[in-house]
Amino acid sequence: MSDYEAVIGLEVHVHLATKSKLFCSCPNSFGDAPNTNVCEICAGMPGVLPSLNRKAVEYAARMALAVDAEINRHSRFARKNYFYPDMPKDYQISQFEEPLCEHGRLDISVAGKSKRIGITRIHMEDDAGKNIHPQGERISLVDLNRAGTPLIEIVSDPDMSSAEEAVAYLKALHAMVVSLGISNGNMEEGSFRCDANVSIRPRGSRTLGTRTELKNLNSFRHVQKAIEYEISRQSDLLEDGEKVVQETRLYDAARNITLAMRGKEDAQDYRYFPDPDLVPVDISEEELAGWKETQPELPQARLARFMKEWKLPEADAVLLAADPHLAALFENAVRLYPESRKIANLMLGPLLRQINEQGLDSAGLKLSPEALAELARIIDSGLISAKIGAEIFPELMRGGVMPEDYVKTHGLAQVSDSGAIEAAVRKVVEANPAEAEAYRGGKTKLISFFVGQVMREMRGKANPAVVNEILARLLGS
Ligand code: ADP
Ligand code: MG
Ligand code: ZN
Repeated sequence: MSDYEAVIGLEVHVHLATKSKLFCSCPNSFGDAPNTNVCEICAGMPGVLPSLNRKAVEYAARMALAVDAEINRHSRFARKNYFYPDMPKDYQISQFEEPLCEHGRLDISVAGKSKRIGITRIHMEDDAGKNIHPQGERISLVDLNRAGTPLIEIVSDPDMSSAEEAVAYLKALHAMVVSLGISNGNMEEGSFRCDANVSIRPRGSRTLGTRTELKNLNSFRHVQKAIEYEISRQSDLLEDGEKVVQETRLYDAARNITLAMRGKEDAQDYRYFPDPDLVPVDISEEELAGWKETQPELPQARLARFMKEWKLPEADAVLLAADPHLAALFENAVRLYPESRKIANLMLGPLLRQINEQGLDSAGLKLSPEALAELARIIDSGLISAKIGAEIFPELMRGGVMPEDYVKTHGLAQVSDSGAIEAAVRKVVEANPAEAEAYRGGKTKLISFFVGQVMREMRGKANPAVVNEILARLLGS
């Protein structure tokens, strides 16, 4: 691979979180019973008139503002003609020659090095429905609930040169769309989907190599794996004197390979033309100024603020600042108990662990800032140990439970009473005379053995500082 460098450009589809669909008033929601959110317009009946959802324009423009793109005050919808069973109109309404925005950029950082990625264009389009192929049955079903829901497509310049850069770019975009509140960013539900275009060329060359387009990448991990696989597949081809064929390839996650799906010969002529049913999209000066003024805080700005205002190390601040829900929980808790590092540690440790293990959505957490702040406070005050704090975390995440009350009613409060601890220490020292002798003879590492024994004796509730102090005194010669 050392003789080649990779070139990667991404096409990202973001499902916009508007209440209704792009050209009709059907609900734009996920997971409802099939074909319940459908009307004549999104079912593609002849003779109907679509009308544009203005909120979708605002959301697309907010994305453009976030990446410093030029917003075309006059843009147009075009019909992209092709047949697919889940698209009854037989054309997708998209933007072609006059997209809403062009020429944006996004700065990413990989291994401490920052790099600017160009954004070619951002355009609006409607989504198709969904074909369902039930296992073992010789039928296919069509669900049109998703048909006509709003998307933006964000097309990058071919500016990335490794899988890591592609993932960093995607993560930065993802943090942006959720911070802007324009999408829930749910990758499993397809609300944030990515196609990766990958080619390689001799290192230092200025011309682009033949690219393949990778589909079906529904997690950051799959993006990483698929691009890595594709780079090595293409370099093997070139090293063997063969050629890369321009084609669309599917990523098979189970086997961690990419497979040819369709070649360039099948490439369609979409016969784009301006949609005669839709008036051009005009954005007024006032409208644009209003959106600019009310842009929410973006992850990059929040990151800088978290480091400065709350004195968080960068690695911690990145994780909290990327997610607006976690960021709000953090700041609300810190306002109640201003030990920012300790609140952050509870979030990056026990909280993220629970979120990952239970596959939770940070938008719907039941953990209150009050409970989080109180937990940090009672660990600090010595009422409970950090270990017990982590153990009761799942309880707090059910909501409605306050930590101080919970540890008291469940007998989890830490024992700091030196009388009780001293009794336990004496018992342990007497039960382990050989270890006590060795400790006094200089094997001071044995201290952790004694601490462990005392903790066991006291069912994990002894204050470790007091245990250490009494052990030192009683073991000391
Ligand atoms: P299409 O619409 O047919 O997919 P585009 O020209 O719009 O083609 O390109 C789509 C994406 O592919 C863009 O993100 C672009 O940066 C990327 N791209 C184009 N050429 C290459 C190449 N040779 N290697 C890698 N990425 C490329
Ligand atoms: Mg493409
Ligand atoms: Zn509809």
